[in-house]
Amino acid sequence: MSGSSPGPHDSHNTIKVVDAFDLDDELRSLLKPAEMVRDAQGRRHRLPRYFYEIPSHEVAMKIRLTHHFGLNEFILVDIKEQTRLTQFPRYVPCAVRVLAFYLEHFRAAAGASVHIAVNGGYRSPSHKLSLGATAHMWGTAADVYRIGTTILKTKEAIERYNDVAEELSSDVTVLPYGHANGVNADDHVHIDLGYITVVPREISEDRMELPQESRPRFAFEERRRRERRTPVGAGDEES
Ligand SMILES: [Zn+2]
Repeated sequence: MSGSSPGPHDSHNTIKVVDAFDLDDELRSLLKPAEMVRDAQGRRHRLPRYFYEIPSHEVAMKIRLTHHFGLNEFILVDIKEQTRLTQFPRYVPCAVRVLAFYLEHFRAAAGASVHIAVNGGYRSPSHKLSLGATAHMWGTAADVYRIGTTILKTKEAIERYNDVAEELSSDVTVLPYGHANGVNADDHVHIDLGYITVVPREISEDRMELPQESRPRFAFEERRRRERRTPVGAGDEES
């Protein structure tokens, strides 16, 4: 790190908060604000609505969420993420700050640097790995493949750091070592805070919005209005 790198919390107040209902149709359809998704047990969870808007790569690189974790580390994705969501401005749920706080404590307890993997931080509901509700879609889970110089690929290493994570707080859960996809992990530590949604203090919650899934179908509404205007027996037949 160079001496000119920003200090902790430098400029964090400059991250713009957006209500995803105010974003364009494509972004709303990909971020699915306030829509419900089911977890592996069939329980339904409401997706986050409030996001940080990251205007550029430079800003993502500059903003520190905690002393050791930059915002950029939480949004590293590859082609598994939808292309539009990899283009700036980019969006990450406001709860990512809570995750950074826990990871900072995890790093201190582990006594070594913690590396969040590509696709291991925030994954949108449209990400190819978002098959059911996972905390990654809330910005509240991180996949860690390396701690200091230790590559997490042995049972011993994963269980050791799983213990470190779970001892931080009862808010933290991990995936036990094993080979069953989704319920185990055999090459990383999955640090999971659950489905935390943050309502930033800049937001006023008096605006009601319906998730896209429950909005009336515009085309259908139009057709009904037209039918009401058209006297019975008049006009052309419509299929
Ligand atoms: Zn994970």
